[in-house]
Amino acid sequence: MESMRDMPGKPHIDTSTSGQSNKGVPEELLQQWESVANQMRAEIGEASYQSWLRPMTVRSMENGVVTISVPTRFMRDWATAHYQDRMTELWRTANTSLKGVEVVVHSAPSAETADTPVKRSPVGSAATVREQHRDDLSAPLDGRFTFDQFVVGKPNEFAYAAARRVAEADSVPFNPLFLYGGVGLGKTHLMHAIAGHIRQDQPERTVIYMSAEKFMYRFVSALREQNTVDFKQQFRSVDVLMIDDVQFIAGKDSTQEEFFHTFNALVDQGRQIVISADKSPSDLEGMEERLVSRLNCGLVADIHATTYELRLGILQSKAHKLGAEVPAKVLEFLAHKITANVRELEGALNRVVAHSQLVGRDISLETSQDVLRDLLRANDRRVTIEEIQKQVASHFNVRISDMHSARRARSVARPRQVAMYLAKQLTSRSLPEIGRKFGGRDHTTVMHAVRKVEELREHDTTFNEDVELLRRMLEG
Ligand code: ADP
Ligand code: MG
Repeated sequence: MESMRDMPGKPHIDTSTSGQSNKGVPEELLQQWESVANQMRAEIGEASYQSWLRPMTVRSMENGVVTISVPTRFMRDWATAHYQDRMTELWRTANTSLKGVEVVVHSAPSAETADTPVKRSPVGSAATVREQHRDDLSAPLDGRFTFDQFVVGKPNEFAYAAARRVAEADSVPFNPLFLYGGVGLGKTHLMHAIAGHIRQDQPERTVIYMSAEKFMYRFVSALREQNTVDFKQQFRSVDVLMIDDVQFIAGKDSTQEEFFHTFNALVDQGRQIVISADKSPSDLEGMEERLVSRLNCGLVADIHATTYELRLGILQSKAHKLGAEVPAKVLEFLAHKITANVRELEGALNRVVAHSQLVGRDISLETSQDVLRDLLRANDRRVTIEEIQKQVASHFNVRISDMHSARRARSVARPRQVAMYLAKQLTSRSLPEIGRKFGGRDHTTVMHAVRKVEELREHDTTFNEDVELLRRMLEG
């Protein structure tokens, strides 16, 4: 778990972290920034705020353009892609003469190359140090995600066998193990199962499990705190490194670079690496060629979409665990109707069971249909984000890759916003999920896109017709 940083409160304007001060900046500007930063904090959440906004230093306002500086190029690119539009919008409500917000890199010595001495580990027995180190770095494991609880069927038997192999071996059977498959098909479950199994059977091995997103945040914090030596050291003394949802760092160049080095160092020392992603290494867009080829070197195992048999098996197992009497007819009905992924399937079953307990009545087909009406409807009309991206790209004559790219030219940004808007309208995906499907964008970017498209639809008839046409084609 990431340690809690400072208590929430006022945004940290005099950023001691970056060693930059606001000397000479008009008080009025600082106040506007404080208000913008506070609103952003409410929108993007504490963790993102701490990682991205807190290191910002407001510099000046000239000709209506506010300049904000950040410690590294990477942060500048990220902030520009994810927060610049929204900051500008918010700032404009405080100061109508504002034309734009520009994010630049501090001219101070680059943190990216700064070397700092390695901090000493606390004294203690090897085991406590190892545990402490692990708990500092690794995300907690979900106790329910074990091999026992994983229902095996045709679509996942290969991935399951590979995962078991890695968990049971005391050496490194293949490196890396790369698990991939669509959302909600059990990648995280298998990763936790591997980690839990090794920790139990071979406590002397340090297992670190974390999301790629967390890896990136940590890396960025290390850059900010000029602690990159420490960062490297931490990862490079790990026996088993597991990074979940690695598609998240595709296109994030400096994180990818660091990951690549960490990866190589560990492989060279014969340590095990396990990675998951939503696509195969070769299909991950924005991944560097040499990283792709290294990822392809080990064992690549995919989890396919569920089959009816697997869904039914999972439902039976879960119903049994819930200790609920669910008629076979209802399980079959669910296995037939809820096909998107296992997470949704589980959710549907939980709802049906919870409802029956709440009203104190037995579960029947009728009540199940009733309780799940919205879910069933969504599953009937199952348009995927990928389909939306494809249709929208072809309609506006841009490349599908532009849906994920960081390009901000209006000719690609607008179609991308339309696709995000349609994804929100036509699928049941959450804003963060949609953001992830669009090159790992923040949920606020999606929110902004939705608002923007709504606004345009009101004022621009041609545009409105375009969007309506797309919607009908996708729904039809
Ligand atoms: P992913 O990481 O691929 O998006 P998760 O591992 O989070 O998916 O799985 C989503 C949910 O479905 C979890 O609660 C997980 O326990 C459950 N699940 C997925 N596949 C299986 C399976 N084969 N057997 C039992 N539960 C499963
Ligand atoms: Mg997952």
